[in-house]
Amino acid sequence: MRTPRLTPVAPFAASSRRAVLAGGLALATAGGLPGFSFAQTGADRAARWQRLPVGDLEVTVLSDGRLRQPTRAFGTDVPEAEREALFRAAGVTDGFIDAEINVTAVKRGDELVLIDVGGGPNLVESAGQLGKALEAAGIDPGAVTRVVLTHGHPDHLWGAIDEFDDSIRFPNARWAMSKAEWDLWMTGDPTAKLPAERHNLIPGAVRNLKGLGDRVERVEPGQPLAPDLASIEAGGHTQGHMGIVLGSGPDRLLVLGDALVHAVQSFAHPEWRLAADHEHERAVATRRRLLDMLAGERVRMLGYHLPFPGIGRVERRGKGYAFVAGV
Ligand SMILES: [Zn+2]
Repeated sequence: MRTPRLTPVAPFAASSRRAVLAGGLALATAGGLPGFSFAQTGADRAARWQRLPVGDLEVTVLSDGRLRQPTRAFGTDVPEAEREALFRAAGVTDGFIDAEINVTAVKRGDELVLIDVGGGPNLVESAGQLGKALEAAGIDPGAVTRVVLTHGHPDHLWGAIDEFDDSIRFPNARWAMSKAEWDLWMTGDPTAKLPAERHNLIPGAVRNLKGLGDRVERVEPGQPLAPDLASIEAGGHTQGHMGIVLGSGPDRLLVLGDALVHAVQSFAHPEWRLAADHEHERAVATRRRLLDMLAGERVRMLGYHLPFPGIGRVERRGKGYAFVAGV
């Protein structure tokens, strides 16, 4: 059996055809990302969405599809045998995780907020299905009044701008992103702020954020973004990564972007390093803080990459935690 390489890996697979279609994105020029599988998930193509109430809010989780990620991108500082034993116990037998992409829509009165916009049609063949899910759920993209971006990674941001005519996919929305995240990609030289193996994410982020331009409100963590919807600081995965709190009181739902990305590993071993994190120590501290709060307050969370629809609660389990799925 081939021994997986321990070099840092990018978390995103891309088919060469799609990458070429994306025209000039760094994924195309890389000729493949080091140590990376180009196999696709063969995800079912049916639109998936699920609706639930959160206080006075109507929340709809919409699937943008799936991303294949090698297990060696999780726990880059952990011995391979220990890492693979955890994933085998979690049912991962081929060294790859099929991570879901869970986009959240929040409706209250005339306000319709989208949290992240998926990867767009050209990131990977198994993603880019948000448009279809919106249609199936009866949500008109033109009716979206606000888009909140947790951070600027491809599977969260690249669905913003149409690759072919540069139009904005949610044309009537005001957009929001943390000021720290905007600055990471758009101020100064982003290559100085990212590890070398993350530089291939810069052109796509810049292209999408430039396309949105001054429609993007740059917010501070903790700032209210809409009625019953506020951002919280959740940095480390990226410098300006933020989560979103929906509702209030014990019934609230924390939409946590990429703070907790795997239903077993992130909860059992929040201290493991992830290839996708920009700031490792801060990412670990953020995971510990969020897990402590989620378990202590028994509040629901939604993870962007957790099994669809990504909703559940957190329980303390031994020295770590466990994710208990369920709306
Ligand atoms: Zn992500």
